[in-house]
Amino acid sequence: MGKKICVIGGGSSGLTAIKACVDEGLEPTCFERSEDIGGLWRFKENPEDGRASIYKSVIINTSKEMMCFSDYPIPDEYPNYMHNSKIMQYFRMYAVNFDLLKYIRYKTSVCSVKRHPDFATTGQWDVVTECDGKKESHVFDGILVCSGHHTFPHLPLHSFKGIEKFKGQYFHSREYKNPQAFHDKRIIVIGIGNSGGDLAVELSSVAKQVYLSTRRGAWVVNRVADEGFPLDVVIYSRFKLFIKQFMTTEMINSWAEKKMNARFNHENYGMKPKHRITHQHPTLNDDLPNRIISGKVLMKCNVKEFTETDAIFEDGTVEKDIDAVFFATGYSFSFPFFDDEVLKVENNKIPLYKFVFPPLLEKPTVAFIGLVQPIGAIMPIAELQARWATRVFKGLNKLPSKENMLADIAMKRREMESRYVESPRHTIQVDFMECLEELACQIDVKPNLLRFLFTDPKLAWELFFGPCTPYQYRLTGVGKWSGAREAILTQRDRIIKATKTRVLSDDMKKPTSAIPFLLKILSVFVVFAAIYFVYM
Ligand code: FAD
Ligand code: NAP
Repeated sequence: MGKKICVIGGGSSGLTAIKACVDEGLEPTCFERSEDIGGLWRFKENPEDGRASIYKSVIINTSKEMMCFSDYPIPDEYPNYMHNSKIMQYFRMYAVNFDLLKYIRYKTSVCSVKRHPDFATTGQWDVVTECDGKKESHVFDGILVCSGHHTFPHLPLHSFKGIEKFKGQYFHSREYKNPQAFHDKRIIVIGIGNSGGDLAVELSSVAKQVYLSTRRGAWVVNRVADEGFPLDVVIYSRFKLFIKQFMTTEMINSWAEKKMNARFNHENYGMKPKHRITHQHPTLNDDLPNRIISGKVLMKCNVKEFTETDAIFEDGTVEKDIDAVFFATGYSFSFPFFDDEVLKVENNKIPLYKFVFPPLLEKPTVAFIGLVQPIGAIMPIAELQARWATRVFKGLNKLPSKENMLADIAMKRREMESRYVESPRHTIQVDFMECLEELACQIDVKPNLLRFLFTDPKLAWELFFGPCTPYQYRLTGVGKWSGAREAILTQRDRIIKATKTRVLSDDMKKPTSAIPFLLKILSVFVVFAAIYFVYM
């Protein structure tokens, strides 16, 4: 009999955690407090307690090839950036394909997770769940926490003097569903993260005026990058990671900021922050500059004070007769089912080894899945975390000593604090590729480029120059998937197919020049040099 594992939450992290358990011969039971899978991505007309809530129009900002699970590509006809309804379809297909639904108990909340009296020897947990008002006790050998981190609103009303006098409506962005009720209204959106940007754009299509207020500004990045490819496809490749080693942060910042300013000058659009582009979680928005140039959205600094009807900004300007204020001020996370002695979250700071394992437990039988804020997609990271955690639960992988784990946690925290501007949104930041590679090394599934260069040069080429898609971590080792090579070699076709819905006849295509061919030859030398540099 495999060990019994409790998976808390049936969102995208929970689904891949169930699959990781099954793949390792463990026995998962997933408790999901709502009536269905999908977590945040399942849209409902009204927000529900304890589950993240999205607006009807949300389109993901990570592209399909970079966000899919590593052994289940997203259909080629699906758009690169999917609407939430399409994302749900994908998660359902994944769950059905791998027969995961039978492990889920719906409408069942996990109320408490406590150490079993024999924890020091068995690593077991006493879990209490509640379904239809009835409590039930269970004993589990391991816990995978997949309860998400965009559920509890961060609503800093204390920072906004006079808000209690304000006679208009105010909301957190999690309550926003669609713009219908805001026709001809004068609206302030506070915060310029991805929610603030999306809300300002959408509301401005119906409102009389939208003001987007930011205390710090932001660099705004396009989803659609060079030649119309998705941004994450363009920026995340092993080749670019290799080049990055030779660039200083100043060089990266200058290059990226120049690109952002070439699209629209951030200073002229009232958006420019004091900090550099890599010092803040990026805001992706293709439409915001269009709304600003047409005057539908006006940029403002931080609100100093509200009166009954007006907002007074820190620069002394006043906007009168405000009807509604949206606080797109982010989220806090917590895990109310754990005692503080097991885990304490303070100001969104949580001490976890590689953002997965609490370091001080006698037995490593609890792991957090998806509790990261990558500059890129969460799903493939959550998947690798779950693959690693389940092997640790089985005793096939060992964690380092407590001292080494604490040192790693402290180092990561120092790096984060020195890089990012101080904000509760910057406590679980990870770089997408670096995080994937680090996790892949834990279970030895990082592809060996040198080996592929000699055995399968075509694949080696795509692994090095192509986007670092999740399939790369299914080529070898534990959990190897026979379709991984094919998925990698056809990934560009799937990206293009979704946009090239009007196919040109041959006589309409541009003649190709000899230069790309010469560049390819030059690149072959670069590959050899890079691999020599990395492996020799
Ligand atoms: P969730 O999707 O939040 O699922 C958690 C599940 O756990 C829920 O179903 C909940 O009901 C259940 N649960 C919680 N507590 C309990 C309990 N005690 N007992 C039982 N069940 C419980 N990420 C990206 O990678 N790309 C994006 O473009 C992107 N866009 C986003 C857009 C918005 C508006 C927001 C808010 C977030 C976005 N994210 C994005 C981040 C998002 O958190 C992840 O995409 C993803 O949903 C995380 O999945 P999860 O399973 O970890 O958490
Ligand atoms: P967020 O990224 O945490 O951004 C919060 C914003 O509010 C920041 O601009 C922050 O400013 C500001 N803020 C916080 N406290 C404030 C205060 N006291 N006074 C003034 N401003 C304050 O939250 P989010 O935008 O809701 O995004 C949450 C997650 O969802 C992110 O992962 C995001 O990528 C994702 N998301 C994705 C999409 C999409 O895919 N389309 C859409 C929405 C959200 P500072 O920077 O100064 O702290």
